[in-house]
Amino acid sequence: MTAAIDIHNATKSYGDKTVLRGVDLTVAAGTVTVILGPSGSGKSTLLRAINHLEKLDEGFVALNGELIGVRVKGDRLKELPEKRILRQRARIGFVFQNFNLFPHLTILENVTEAPIAQGISAKRARDEARTLLARVGLADKEAAYPRQLSGGQQQRVAIARALALEPEVILFDEPTSALDPELVGEVLGVIRTLTGSGKTLIVVTHEIGFAREVADHVVFMDEGAIVEQGTPSDVLSHPRHRRTQDFLSKVL
Ligand code: ADP
Ligand code: MG
Repeated sequence: MTAAIDIHNATKSYGDKTVLRGVDLTVAAGTVTVILGPSGSGKSTLLRAINHLEKLDEGFVALNGELIGVRVKGDRLKELPEKRILRQRARIGFVFQNFNLFPHLTILENVTEAPIAQGISAKRARDEARTLLARVGLADKEAAYPRQLSGGQQQRVAIARALALEPEVILFDEPTSALDPELVGEVLGVIRTLTGSGKTLIVVTHEIGFAREVADHVVFMDEGAIVEQGTPSDVLSHPRHRRTQDFLSKVL
C-alpha cells in the first residue's frame, strides 16, 4: 500500500530541551493510527510537524511522496513559499483539543470560512457545509454561535470544518480530552464514521477502548521517541516494553 505519510528522522528541540529524537513513522493511506504516550512525550509536536505548523530542526515529512513545507536543496531543507505551504496544509485537516472554533462566526460560517477563502463559491460552500453538519448530527445548529453549543457539539463542528476542505489526512490531537465524560462518546462516534472512508486518520488519544476498536496501527511514544508500535493487539494487549506496560496500567 502507498504510504500516505512518511516521517523521517523528525527532530526538534526547544532551547536545550529535545522534544523529538529522530522519529521515523510510516502511515499507510486509508488507515487509522492511534498515538499514545504520557504528557510531554512529543505527541502534539509530532502532529503539528506533519502539517508544518511546527518546523523540524532535522528530518522531514512527506505526504504521498511530496515533501511538506520544505524541499531538499543540496543536503539542506529549504522552506517552501507560504502559499504552497497553505495549499499543502489544506490537504491535512487538524482537529484540536480545544476545538478552536472562531467565536464570532456562526456554526455554518465556521465550516464555510476556509473553503470560501480557497475560492469556492459561497453558495457551494454553504451547501456542502450543511451536508457536513447533517453528517455530524448538527443540521439544526447552523445559525448558532460556538458558545451556545456543548463541548461535544463544538468538537463535532470542528470535525465538519476539517472535512470541508476534503483533506486526504486528518490529524486529531486529543479530541476528547477537554470534554466532560458524558460527551466523549458522541465525538468518538463521529470519528468512527470517518474510518474506512479512504481518509488517513492519525489520532492522539488516551481512549484505549477506542484505539482497540478502530486503530489499524498503534504507536506508543515516550520522551520524544517511538518506544513501540504495532497492531492494537500487539501494543495494547501484549506490550513488550516496560514503559508501555507502565503507561497502560495507568490509563486503563
Ligand atoms: P505531548 O503532546 O505528548 O504532551 P508536546 O509535544 O506538547 O507533548 O510537548 C513535548 C515537550 O515539549 C513538553 O515538555 C513541552 O513542554 C515542550 N514544548 C512544547 N511546545 C513548546 C514550545 N512552544 N516551547 C517550549 N517548549 C515546548
Ligand atoms: Mg499534546
